[in-house]
Amino acid sequence: MNNHTYVPIRRTKIVATLGPASDREGELERMLRAGVDVVRLNFSHGSADDHRRRLTEVREIADRIGKSVAALADLQGPKIRIARFKDGAVELEEGKPFVLDMALDSEAGDVNRVGCDYETLAEDLNVGDRLLLDDGRLVLDVDAVKGDEVHTHVIVGGRLSNNKGINKLGGGLSAPALTDKDKEDLKTALEIGVDYMAVSFPRTAADMQEARKLMGEKGKDIGLIAKIERAEAVADDETLDGIINASEAVMVARGDLGVEIGDAQLIGVQKRIIKHARSLNRAVITATQMMESMIESPLPTRAEVFDVANAVLDGTDAVMLSAETAAGDYPVETIEAMDRVCLGAERERSTQESGHRIHQGFTRSDETVALSAMYAANHLEGVSAIACMTSSGYTALIASRIHSGLPIIGLAHSAVAQRRMALYRGVVSFAFDTSRMEASELNDNALALLVKEGITQVDDHVILTRGDHMNAHGGTNTMKILSVTADHQRG
Ligand code: PGA
Ligand code: MN
Repeated sequence: MNNHTYVPIRRTKIVATLGPASDREGELERMLRAGVDVVRLNFSHGSADDHRRRLTEVREIADRIGKSVAALADLQGPKIRIARFKDGAVELEEGKPFVLDMALDSEAGDVNRVGCDYETLAEDLNVGDRLLLDDGRLVLDVDAVKGDEVHTHVIVGGRLSNNKGINKLGGGLSAPALTDKDKEDLKTALEIGVDYMAVSFPRTAADMQEARKLMGEKGKDIGLIAKIERAEAVADDETLDGIINASEAVMVARGDLGVEIGDAQLIGVQKRIIKHARSLNRAVITATQMMESMIESPLPTRAEVFDVANAVLDGTDAVMLSAETAAGDYPVETIEAMDRVCLGAERERSTQESGHRIHQGFTRSDETVALSAMYAANHLEGVSAIACMTSSGYTALIASRIHSGLPIIGLAHSAVAQRRMALYRGVVSFAFDTSRMEASELNDNALALLVKEGITQVDDHVILTRGDHMNAHGGTNTMKILSVTADHQRG
């Protein structure tokens, strides 16, 4: 066993939403240096120009500091919202009647009624249904549906302001996942060049397939992310697995999901989504209110520390920040806190052990090699890393479905593949252009790069996976156990 000590590499990735807070002078660079792996462009807010400007700046900084940062466009989806009030916010009192009126002018709301732009809301509701407004802060029960009017009474009252969201407990609102605005935003996102596209509120695999079709040839290298945030999406395994299989990654979108299924269900559902995503070879992001109090405070609460740590123990690929980095007072401190907590949780032995696919047969050569490499790395003494020469990042994804304490190094020619790997747990990517190398020097060049990056040292073993074609990218069919020698210490 070697006795080297290495700088610990955080395996769990951090997704940070951009917004006015990250626009502050110098903030974005500090955020990326503090450890952001994926930036999220939230199309629920901001203009096309805002997103373009932000991504341009991200690419410039990432190049300068030598880091692969992926960009995720998050489409708004059919979030149902109330319209606006004449005089700003109103105070709803428990027991009082309140009407959602599809025919009411969008600026004419008052303490008795408010408009809503979702025309078929009345058709989707029945007497006795429960509506949750403003992420569940206010609760209304439906008493009657009369034409365009939904009559309710207030169960939990409070302040209700303009454009707050509406969810139905148990789900079942029929809006299709992609609105006209989403279709426009999708085009914008393709134009500005994102790496991942997130679809909000998909009901079934068909919604994801529609998004895939809309992305077309131009979006063929973009990873599709299904935000799991409807009760229907998690109602049975068939639907959930269908959505996962139709996507490259999923998000446990706890904000809306928690409102639709109730917080008591959420804990188990988070674990179930993460488990299913990993076992179907997909990446998974855990999102929303992870460090919510840090919007206004430089330190997380104990509960937030444990929430992030719990997601790490559940096996999530990434943890996500929303308003904390988009609109909060302490974006950098929040990223630092997340980094710290993830590293701490990753020291737990259980995060390094795996029974993934141990009782399953394999059908693909590249997957067989990737999984064998992880098995070898986890069991052989003196291994410091697994290195995958990969064209798309797929081998690294498959390898990273197995838990390990060792870093998985994705060696890729293309910047697109490198950025794609930024989301995968335990994977660090480097540029590796094999087209300019002789076949005989590939292995040594890979080891030299790993030594230079401080990932391995003389006398360590590295497990390498590659194809045996001249360019060595794609068609992974080989696993090698290599030893690092003094010859690999160059310059
Ligand atoms: P949102 O999605 O932030 O776009 O609503 C995430 C969630 O619902 O948790
Ligand atoms: Mn949501």
